[in-house]
Amino acid sequence: RTVFVNGEYLPETEAKISIFDRGFLMADAVYEVTSVLGGKLVDFEGHAVRLERSLKELDMKAPCTKEELLEIHRKLVEVNEIDEGLVYLQVSRGSDGDRDFVFPDPETTEPSLVLFTQNKPGLADSPAAKKGAKIISIEDIRWGRRDIKTTQLLYPSMGKMMAKAAGADDAWMIEDGHVTEGTSNNAYFVKDGKIVTRPLSNDILHGITRKAVLRLAEEAQMQIEERLFTIDEAKEADEAFTTSASAFVMPVVEIDGVALGDGTPGALAKRLREIYLDEARAKAI
Ligand code: PMP
Repeated sequence: RTVFVNGEYLPETEAKISIFDRGFLMADAVYEVTSVLGGKLVDFEGHAVRLERSLKELDMKAPCTKEELLEIHRKLVEVNEIDEGLVYLQVSRGSDGDRDFVFPDPETTEPSLVLFTQNKPGLADSPAAKKGAKIISIEDIRWGRRDIKTTQLLYPSMGKMMAKAAGADDAWMIEDGHVTEGTSNNAYFVKDGKIVTRPLSNDILHGITRKAVLRLAEEAQMQIEERLFTIDEAKEADEAFTTSASAFVMPVVEIDGVALGDGTPGALAKRLREIYLDEARAKAI
């Protein structure tokens, strides 16, 4: 694979980052994952805008312009011959060659920019989406700024391991009795034709796929309610699903061992997945 590190395209084995980089030492870094369909980027603009916001919230400098980022994404997709897959981008605060809790001087410290591709044939025509996901619920013990897409992913990783240990695929997290989101996706259930999902706040990531899917659902005259909900409501739902840039719309067929509907992907989730993928392909750049 060819990867991008701080201005250079290199074979992955030659790419290097300082051991003092705050991304490595302190998870002082933000990231984006953009999917690739038919060799083109899905909703690049949405990811670029969210990246800008994450950087601003953390007083981090932008490593380059949006146009330059698009060019790097496109070049990596091209040289790595990605038809279906992902582009991972990470910006860290960099380092001034030492370890200190205090941010280094932004005048003299450059952020680090790293990008690499992941080849994922069958991302759209996914066997996992045809089966649907089994999820468990776990407590949400993450920090209070989940709207910033930082690389602090240890607890979400542990959540996936808890799911795996329980024979499930993923976990939804619960705080103060209400579902926040999935370990790496936004969470929804459907009851009597109405889609319910948690409203945006600092408690969840403002999913790029969430925004597109809610818009498409509205355009398709589906009913949407953005409100807090409990895991018990979701268990009693007709269907459920998650959204993310890497899995699009993923039907959920089981929650904490309780099958939803007939235990297969729901009609509305399947339809939304199709509508989303159609538009994503058509609008990809
Ligand atoms: N919530 C969390 C915690 C996530 O990690 C992700 C995926 N990065 C999402 C939601 C979905 O966001 P997006 O649709 O932008 O991928």
